[in-house]
Amino acid sequence: MIKSLLIANRGEIACRVIRTARRLGIRTIAVYSDADAKALHVRSADEAVHIGPSAARESYLVGEKIIAAAKATGAEAIHPGYGFLSENAEFAQAVMDAGIVWVGPKPASITAMGLKDAAKKLMLEAGVPCTPGYLGDDQDPANLAAEAAKIGYPVLIKAVAGGGGKGMRLVEKPEDFADALASCQREASASFGNAHVLIEKYILSPRHIEVQVFGDSHGNVVHLFERDCSLQRRHQKVIEEAPAPGMDAATREAVCMAAVRAAKAVDYEGAGTIEFIADGSEGLRADRIWFMEMNTRLQVEHPVTEEITGVDLVEWQLRVASGEPIPCKQDELSINGWAMEARLYAEDPAKGFLPSIGRLELFELGEVEGGRIDTGVYEGAEVSPFYDPMIAKLITHGSSRDEARLRLSDMLEDSAVWPVRTNAAFLINALAHPEFASGKVDTGLIGRDGEAMATDPEPSDEMLLEAAMGLVPYAMASGFRLNAPSRNVGTFLLDGQPIEIALEGEAADEPEESILIAENGKVWQLQPWRVAGSGHHGAHDGDILSPMPGKIIAVDVTEGQSVTKGQKLLTLEAMKMEHTLTAPFDGVVAELKAVSGTQVQVDALLARIEAVEE
Ligand code: ADP
Repeated sequence: MIKSLLIANRGEIACRVIRTARRLGIRTIAVYSDADAKALHVRSADEAVHIGPSAARESYLVGEKIIAAAKATGAEAIHPGYGFLSENAEFAQAVMDAGIVWVGPKPASITAMGLKDAAKKLMLEAGVPCTPGYLGDDQDPANLAAEAAKIGYPVLIKAVAGGGGKGMRLVEKPEDFADALASCQREASASFGNAHVLIEKYILSPRHIEVQVFGDSHGNVVHLFERDCSLQRRHQKVIEEAPAPGMDAATREAVCMAAVRAAKAVDYEGAGTIEFIADGSEGLRADRIWFMEMNTRLQVEHPVTEEITGVDLVEWQLRVASGEPIPCKQDELSINGWAMEARLYAEDPAKGFLPSIGRLELFELGEVEGGRIDTGVYEGAEVSPFYDPMIAKLITHGSSRDEARLRLSDMLEDSAVWPVRTNAAFLINALAHPEFASGKVDTGLIGRDGEAMATDPEPSDEMLLEAAMGLVPYAMASGFRLNAPSRNVGTFLLDGQPIEIALEGEAADEPEESILIAENGKVWQLQPWRVAGSGHHGAHDGDILSPMPGKIIAVDVTEGQSVTKGQKLLTLEAMKMEHTLTAPFDGVVAELKAVSGTQVQVDALLARIEAVEE
């Protein structure tokens, strides 16, 4: 067994690999960029080597720097994780040429599966069913259009060098083919430096089924059953599970054995995934599942396979890379229960899934029975704009699909991340969607119903009231008064937006300046409007600022007038309510800007009270 390991990656996967390596007594070496100097993977490893600037192409993607770091620290092996250099055959070769163990398949296996057209040709030879389509070299647009017509619309144009959902175009009708082809080729050249495309029949009601395979250097290949990753947003996986809903034993045997043949065809060593697409319109059937591509690395969603099989795939990777055979035989592997994984992203679904960056002031993930968290961040860490915004994977195991699903939902509901936004509420909605809940998911579900899933939830009245009562005394101390005590309605700012809350019950003994409300996977900040609106804090600040946009309807004092603490100064009408602003302490009206009948903006200076010298 190897004794030391450099992890050529960052984030949750680097932490995940370190965890197993440490358990096996292997010394771990992290690499990091400028932005990651304080990252969790750096803290978790025994040693860490700085490899350059924040941009990945100047650090994590520079093979020479990584190999130099391995040499400098005496690392015996390199684990690439996923993404970055993990499927780069040249890098794999360079690692081996440097006398370092490569934790992954042979470079030739990576190359054989690297281009989608070559891979499909190889798979057809190996007797693996492939999606009907055109794989030829004749890239003349007229020829490609003719081939598309032969296949029958709708068709999918795929860049042969594409990946990560890029370089694909769905074409519904012949008139659109030429434009779609041109745009696909442009994107393919720009992103992958290769404009070559293939054409495939577009599968309706498509389901994404993939099989985890494992090979060793002794010629053994086993599979660890399938995963279903059909819940996708723009061809990116959102929630993954194992096994696949509705997969019967015979279909499973057929697809898993096809995956083993695929891996054997490329002499595969280590962890790999064969991705299939299934026509799910009439349930899963062996004759309607076709090879799509092979990922020659550990997959993001590998934990669901670990949860149902009890195998630590990273341990297997490290053993196999050390020359050991796969620790068990095919017939010793079985499926136990159900597992589900949700990818938690630092992004804002309500704002078109824009990445959300910044410091994780609050970072709490729910804990449930059968729950597992794979993360690469911690409370107080920074989410930088440089890398993939996935901050954690929440994984659950249960005895049934519904148990795993509901546990995952509970886990998300108990999670609270702030002020960085996450897709937790979106994930909760997706898990509760009737089609997903019943296992009838296809890759188009989010495309059809995603807008409703992305709608921001509102905090419940109970949570708002509880938070408001915690703020009341503080708000009072800052010059805030309930406008009409009989109505007992207070105005607050919820994430900066004015909101009225009917107050009842006891105010908190120890009031706070602002309170975070965490519910349904979302976090809101509630503040008393006076404090939030003033931009200054504390009762000794005599600036009376408009807490919100509104109209001055009464001014009760004149400049130079002496006032006592709590004395009414002026009345503002906003949100159809009257708000009274009072003197925060004894003093004189040193400045009076408010004019009755005029409109004022939020934060406008209305008056200034100067304290009287004692
Ligand atoms: P990438 O390498 O960019 O991930 P894939 O070939 O793996 O591209 O396809 C990504 C996703 O696109 C699949 O998971 C599936 O949702 C969809 N897809 C791919 N091929 C087809 C097809 N022939 N018909 C329908 N959907 C497809």
